[in-house]
Amino acid sequence: MKSEAIVSNTTQIEARSVGKTFGKFHALRDVSLQISEGEFLSLLGPSGSGKTTFLTLLGGYEPVTRGRLMLEGQDMTSWSANQRGFGMVFQGYALFPHLTVAENIAFPLKVQKRSKAQVTDRVAQMVEMVGLSGHEHKKPKALSGGQQQRVALARALAYEPKVLLLDEPFSALDKNLRGQMQEELRRLHRDLGTTFVFVTHDQEEALALSSRIAIFNHGELQQIGTPDEVYERPANRFTAEFLGDINILSLDAEAGGIAGTPLELPASATAYEHVAIRPEHMRLAAAGDGNQLPARVRDRVYLGSKSRLLLETRAGEELMLYFDNGPGLPPPDRGAELNVVWDTRDSFAI
Ligand code: ATP
Repeated sequence: MKSEAIVSNTTQIEARSVGKTFGKFHALRDVSLQISEGEFLSLLGPSGSGKTTFLTLLGGYEPVTRGRLMLEGQDMTSWSANQRGFGMVFQGYALFPHLTVAENIAFPLKVQKRSKAQVTDRVAQMVEMVGLSGHEHKKPKALSGGQQQRVALARALAYEPKVLLLDEPFSALDKNLRGQMQEELRRLHRDLGTTFVFVTHDQEEALALSSRIAIFNHGELQQIGTPDEVYERPANRFTAEFLGDINILSLDAEAGGIAGTPLELPASATAYEHVAIRPEHMRLAAAGDGNQLPARVRDRVYLGSKSRLLLETRAGEELMLYFDNGPGLPPPDRGAELNVVWDTRDSFAI
């Protein structure tokens, strides 16, 4: 499910050919992208791909080496972090250990010299918003990881920043709590309409939360788009493989298909060497329409509601698909010969 928050068409932040080097090392190269007001944009990529570096450039915590950063049409490249005024939630919780929950949340408001009454009101509102009523007077170490992360969120949102930057905020939490916090973050985003820029290396997290995803590898932006665009229509092999399971088969120009088998191929196939199909778009066939590729079952893994089948084509290439366990036919045994079928529209050339 995607966030239902309203995303405007107004560009709020723009990166123009942004580069960052540390000594001779290029952490980011030529990154250009636009972020709309109210978006939930995830920066997704493997470790070391430059996600955190890009976030710190956006926040003004590090200067860019090349390019420009724009905020609502104004050049903010040389502005300090304070002048930009974005909220930031870090990987650790970075709470002040000697301050209570309420004092932690109040801190940025006091720095802004808000009146005492305003601070009290706002803190009460934020405590309620992140579900921490009753915990106001506790110190961070008396809270669970999830509660500490809620305090960090409340503190970052207390002074109503236009943009909230989040760097893997849930990476220290266990799986259940992580899911719960993701739901809460979605709700907060929906209710507040603040622009969220969220760093994660977790594909599922990015797909579930974002209005758009920017995919990075080796400091370069690979693709930016809605979750279904990047998942269903990856721009290149890296994105296709990084976002989930994918079957990649060599095209056989002579046969006009794959592995000596003539097949209907995506229109763009002539310019490429491989065709890619996600496992969930493949099924086993008796006979019928669509592409049919003969294959042999090499291995079968029982996963409860489904079985994962590892197959081998006649050309010796591997492919994988899921078989729904349940009423009807049992999954085929190892060694079984069968046909794999898919709709050409669900395949793409890479
Ligand atoms: P992770 O998921 O591991 O945090 P990331 O995609 O956020 O990875 P970055 O933290 O942006 O990656 O780092 C990108 C590259 O830049 C890495 O190779 C890192 O070692 C390098 N790097 C980052 N900050 C510095 C620095 N201050 N000095 C030198 N190299 C740095």
